[in-house]
This record gives sequence, C-alpha cells and structure tokens, in this order.
Amino acid sequence: MTSTSGRPVGDNQNSLTAGARGPVLMEDYLLFEKMAAFNRERIPERVVHAKGSGAHGTFTVTQDITKYTSAKLFSKVGNTCDLITRFSTVAGEKGSADTARDPRGFSVKFYTEEGNWDMTGNNTPVFFVRDPLKFGDFIHSQKRLPGTNLRSPVVMWDFWSLSPESLHQVTILFSDRGTPDGFRHMNGYSSHTFSLVNANHERVYVKWHFKTMQGIKNLMTAKADELAGADPDYAARDLTTAIDHNEFPKWSVNIQVMTEAEAATYKVNPFDLTKVWNHSDHPLHEVGVMELNRNTKNYFNEIEQAAYSPVNIVPGMGFSPDKMLQARLVSYPDAHRYRLGTNYEFLPVNRPKCPVNTYNRDGFMRFDDNGGDAPNYEPNSMGGATEDKRYLETPSTVAGDSGRYNHREGNDDYKQPGDLFRLLTPDHQKRLVTNIANHMRGIPEHIIKLQLSHFTKADPAYGRGVAELLGMAVAEEELVGAR
Ligand code: NDP
Repeated sequence: MTSTSGRPVGDNQNSLTAGARGPVLMEDYLLFEKMAAFNRERIPERVVHAKGSGAHGTFTVTQDITKYTSAKLFSKVGNTCDLITRFSTVAGEKGSADTARDPRGFSVKFYTEEGNWDMTGNNTPVFFVRDPLKFGDFIHSQKRLPGTNLRSPVVMWDFWSLSPESLHQVTILFSDRGTPDGFRHMNGYSSHTFSLVNANHERVYVKWHFKTMQGIKNLMTAKADELAGADPDYAARDLTTAIDHNEFPKWSVNIQVMTEAEAATYKVNPFDLTKVWNHSDHPLHEVGVMELNRNTKNYFNEIEQAAYSPVNIVPGMGFSPDKMLQARLVSYPDAHRYRLGTNYEFLPVNRPKCPVNTYNRDGFMRFDDNGGDAPNYEPNSMGGATEDKRYLETPSTVAGDSGRYNHREGNDDYKQPGDLFRLLTPDHQKRLVTNIANHMRGIPEHIIKLQLSHFTKADPAYGRGVAELLGMAVAEEELVGAR
C-alpha cells in the first residue's frame, strides 16, 4: 500500500498522535490525505438521469446501408465496433428506485474508427416538450418543490395540462411501458430525427430504433411499487446478473428513412420530438445488432464518468432541424464540462479509440501528454495535423425570417396519442386510465378538468375512463371545449 504520491504506508490502522490518547499530529499525511480524498469522492450528480447503470458490448452491422451513409462503421456487413451503454431513470436522484414510473434513458457510445458516435436516446420514441425553451420548466415540474422539497403530482399535472404537446409521452408514461421490467426488456429510440449522408453527399433523414430481442416486458404498477422498496437497484441487478451468467442481452438496431422531399410534405413535422413517423409510412429497416457482453469493473470510472452527447456523430451522419436536438447538441457537452471538467473527453471511458489530433490544450485535469511539444496552433509549418476537405459537412438549406414562432400553431397534439390509446388492448387501456387516475387523485379540480379535455380530444373513451375513476361526471362537450 502507498499514499497517492507513492510513499509506502507503514500503518493504515492507527493515526499519528502525541501519546496513546492523542491529540492527532498535523503531520499525519496519511490521515489527512484519506479524509481529503473522501470529502471529494462525489462529483455533481446529473441533474437528470442521475440513477443509471450499464455495460460494455459490441455492435455488428447486419445489412448494407452504404446507399444511405458513408460512415466507415457501415462500409461492410459484418463490421463490428466496441460500445458502452448507460440506462437510467430520469427524475429521481442517484439513489432512487430503478422501478419508478419514468422514461428510461438509453445511451450508447459506439467507439468507431472515425470517432465516437453517441446515441443519447430514451425508451420512448417521443418527448414531453418540443421547444427547448420549455425543457428546464418541464424538468422543474418533475423535481422537488422549492418549498417543501417534496415531489408533487399537482405541479406535474399543472405543467402537463398547460402543455398539450406532452400528451403523447404522458400516455406512454402511464401505460405499462412506463415501468419496464429492467433494462433488458425495453426498446431504445433516438427519438430525434438525425440524418445519414452517403458518399455522393445525398442526405436522408432517419430515426433510430433499438428493438429488444428479449421481448418487451413490463412491471405491473403494484409490483414496481413493491420493488421500489424491496430492491431499488432491481434493473441494475437484473442487467449485471444476466451478463455474469453469459445471458447477453441483444437489441436489433433499425432505422426509419425519410427523403428530404418526403420530409418537406410529410403529414406531421418530421422534426417535432412529440411525434412519431408511422411505421406504415416509414417501415423499420434492420441495420445491425447490439449485444451487451461485459460488466464494468469500476462503476465510477466506466458509468458515472461516461459522458454521452448527441453532438457526437461520425462522417456520413448529420443532424436535423429538430429544435430540441439543436439545443441538446450544445447543452449536453456543457453539462459534462460542468460535471466532469473541461477535459472530460480524455477520460478513458470517453476517449475515442481512434487517434485524436486536436489543438485544444491545457485546462483543469489535463492528464494525457497534453499534445507534448507539438505545435498548439494551426496553420503551422511544423507538420501538425491539418484539415481534410473530404470531411466537410454536407450543406443543408436553411431559410426563414428569424422570430419566436408559436410551436403550438398548426400542430395536432391529439391524433397520435389517440392512435396509441386505440392500439392498446382493453385491459391495457384500463390499466392506463387507472394509473393516471390514481396519480391525479386529490389535485385541484381546474387542473383535472383541463387535463381531461386533452384525454377526451385524443379519444373520448380515454377521457371518460379517467373521469369515471375520478368520480367526475363531466359532459364530453364541456371537456372538449375546456380550452
Ligand atoms: P404501428 O401499429 O405500426 O406500431 C405501434 C407501435 O406501438 C409499435 O412500435 C409498438 O411497439 C408500440 N407500442 C405498443 N404499445 C405501446 C405502449 N404502451 N407504449 C408505447 N409504444 C407502444 O403504429 P404506428 O407506427 O402507426 O404508430 C401508432 C402509434 O404507435 C403512434 O401514435 C405511437 O404512439 C405508437 N408508437 C409508434 C412508434 C413509431 O415509431 N411509429 C414507436 C412506438 C410507439 P412494439 O412493436 O415494440 O411492440
């Protein structure tokens, strides 16, 4: 055993004192080093997705999509790359229960030969808000009240009822999929629209779908509630135990594809994060398989310090005009710089497995060779790394007057949640409205009425189902006209 400076330790049991009864001497380097390190063990937890776990794995390309992308990863069927995943709940703190009714984060870092490609997705294809200006407000409504430090269904439903674009995600949240049975039995979705670009610089828009090959399995509400007390780490335990037993979970990785011409005329805004692309319009195409096959050795090193960001794409990929995506491209690296420090991408779990030739230097905790004595400016005539025009972004056309456009105008927030309600079995519909009514019981009537109007606009049976359970005998016309 040594100190952190490498000095051999002679006694790790007894403090250095003046006499057997003390006091402790200031020169007990070991005592003060240990206490100082202990005081600094915690880094800020993620403001969302604080509770998570994950594993290492492999991605294998199964279908040729070179007509869509020039990414080297997809250049040949059979190509593989290493990856690491992190699954999480969203609203709870780092010690909260894995089985909470909450969306699940579904993040994957693919270590490709052209840099890291991160999928920073969820287990749901849509989200609660479509304008990033509302993101912080939404999360505040899910977190603890400033006064009592309690979480409050009143503020959750207050925000949701005043934000009808949330209805699609709220419906998924209170359906059986709101409490997945661990992480192995749920799908992952990019949710956002991204793009792929081929060798001829032609772009298509894509949505990514990771379909569980273990089958969808959800926990009934009573079981999820019971496990929250009996085994709050249920999902983490399930994942790591399965991998320990060589039961490697797999997901088939699929894309939905939309051409730029189709995007211009699609029936909904294809860049609206509260909407899906119907499978009948844009079917799934399998492109690969993801397998998780190695547990982490050190949670802090490999999971807590892992930093995923949708801005991490590779050549042959691109973004989309989705406003939420555009904001996340900036806010995720910003959050990581705050949480982990400016050099977070040099941490082993985040460091690409391909060469990194950047002119960025210095900063807190730069722990690699910091570029050695190579030039730290560009252009230079010293043989430093240079740009390569082959990797220019494919141009996209952007037009329009600047302005704060009303994101609700011309949007139907009810059709797709209604479609989802109608595809659930009667039993599942019953559980959905029961979960909702139990959560809403006791909140102010004006909030309930407004929210009931949203359910009713999605489907009259949806509104009626919740209203009946809440003992609200409200005429349908009144509900539909409530806004
Ligand atoms: P389809 O009939 O082609 O597909 C229905 C989809 O719903 C399937 O992907 C199914 O997932 C999923 N699903 C089933 N139960 C639930 C649930 N409780 N919560 C969330 N998703 C569920 O439908 P469309 O593509 O025409 O879309 C109809 C509705 O289905 C949409 O309005 C949307 O709410 C929902 N949906 C659509 C998705 C899409 O990308 N098009 C993705 C997910 C949901 P699975 O096959 O894994 O069982």
